[in-house]
Amino acid sequence: MTYDAIIIGAGVGGLTTAALLARDGWRVALLEGHIEPGGCASSYRRKRPDGSSYVFDVGATLFGGFQPGGAHDWVARRLGLRFPVVPLESAMQVWLPDRTVTRYGDPAAWRAERARAFPAQAAAAERFWQNQEGVADIAWRFAARNPPMPPETAGDLLGLIPAMRPEMLGLLPHLERTVGHELRRHRLTDPALRAFIDAQLLISAQVPADEAAWLFGSVALDLARQGVFYAEGGAWSIARTLADALIRDGGELRYRAWVDQILVAGGRAVGVRLAGGEELRARHVIAGQTVWDVARLLGEAAPRRLLRLAKETPEAWGAFTCYLGVDAAAVPAGHAEHHQVLLRYGEPLGEGNTAFISLHPAHDTSRAPAGQRAVTISTHTRVGPWWEARAAGRATYVERKGRWAERLLDAAEVALPGLRGHIRYQQSGTPVSFARYTRRAEGMVGGLGQRPAQSGFLSLGARAAGVPGLWLVGDSAFPGQSTAAVTQGAIRLYRALRRG
Ligand SMILES: Cc1cc2nc3c(=O)[nH]c(=O)nc-3n(C[C@H](O)[C@H](O)[C@H](O)COP(=O)(O)OP(=O)(O)OC[C@H]3O[C@@H](n4cnc5c(N)ncnc54)[C@H](O)[C@@H]3O)c2cc1C
Repeated sequence: MTYDAIIIGAGVGGLTTAALLARDGWRVALLEGHIEPGGCASSYRRKRPDGSSYVFDVGATLFGGFQPGGAHDWVARRLGLRFPVVPLESAMQVWLPDRTVTRYGDPAAWRAERARAFPAQAAAAERFWQNQEGVADIAWRFAARNPPMPPETAGDLLGLIPAMRPEMLGLLPHLERTVGHELRRHRLTDPALRAFIDAQLLISAQVPADEAAWLFGSVALDLARQGVFYAEGGAWSIARTLADALIRDGGELRYRAWVDQILVAGGRAVGVRLAGGEELRARHVIAGQTVWDVARLLGEAAPRRLLRLAKETPEAWGAFTCYLGVDAAAVPAGHAEHHQVLLRYGEPLGEGNTAFISLHPAHDTSRAPAGQRAVTISTHTRVGPWWEARAAGRATYVERKGRWAERLLDAAEVALPGLRGHIRYQQSGTPVSFARYTRRAEGMVGGLGQRPAQSGFLSLGARAAGVPGLWLVGDSAFPGQSTAAVTQGAIRLYRALRRG
């Protein structure tokens, strides 16, 4: 049988596309190599000898896009489902070396907090934030009209016209600018404020202010204001909800189905070959992988343009993660669920100098044995040294893992003093682990750095592979990383496929 669409990978991007198409009656096969859906936004269960268990989020822990009009909300309405999410306020607590900053979602509370936390240059900083919010508002309104971004065909260009509004003309000069440019324009030199913005951009745009595209950055800095959510039961609840909808609507979802090859005939993608040799055919093949992995899966059929793109796309970050089971006593009463820590000013971000710490809310008793909390801590890390350490032998790799875990615990102790004394369970993940579980090239996760040359109109579109019938979705493609962003990309692809 020939499917209408084969989707490779049950990450949130692939799942969302598959579920939307199945809802419209398409014959869909979603092929996932792993035994759970969700990819970087999944969870795993770790059983304890006494029969209790932890549910750890492997990567994503804090979710946007579920507010009315957000990307996940659009999908929920389309599929007639309810995601098991609850709003969080505040979004997170940010720990700088000499102060803390609470990222409130409530606009008035956030305005008061930023003035309190960064009193130096307060007036200029306020002008910057108001500018950021104004630009973000225009960008969100544009996104809500589901424009065909980035435009890849004449039809897309035509399709953009109804999404345009006069207010967007004012954004044109911003297209090439970085957040750093805007900070300079407002003459903001306060090192604490700049470090705060760099750290926030690192987790949402993957690059600091001097590199982050201003339009993307303005949106990335706006996430708390738009509303953030906790997924009840763990991140995998989002993916499982989508998987249930796919199956309900007659889609096929196969686990332990690694795709080894995207099949191309007559210059068109016609199907896939699985690791066991089975071949499946489809009118459309949708790859939920990174640009590097799509090039690998095409093998000799990869167009030269795609190979060049894969070569020219700057390396992405990897993640080093710690999964901890800790006594509930480690968490002070009333503590936020999410914390970002910057240990030292003036030093590069990532590699343990910044860390993101997520605790599941105490009300969710499904996540840890009674009296404990499940914690995920992550830091950005360069992938190359991890592969070198692994090549150097087990001892070198294990020693490095141990050192990085200590760095993360040092950072986590800032938000959770005395944490080490409360640890009941501990496991770490490296880019090598992420490569094994998600098959992402070298374990690069979290999408591409949103620099002006790789962002917005210049980001990779669904047709970037350059092979008719082959479509990209996921955090390599527009608009970038996060479950909300890959969902936006999936909606965009779904609409393009429906137009035919
Ligand atoms: C440490 C970390 C923290 C993060 N924190 C957040 C956060 O708090 N909030 C947020 O919104 N986002 C966060 N993100 C980013 C977010 O998780 C990702 O951007 C998003 O989940 C990526 O989705 P995706 O659809 O691109 O696919 P992926 O998650 O990469 O999934 C791809 C899927 O394809 C499967 N696959 C790969 N190759 C094949 C093959 N050949 N055959 C079959 N199956 C295959 C994989 O097993 C995987 O399931 C974080 C990411 C990381 C790593």
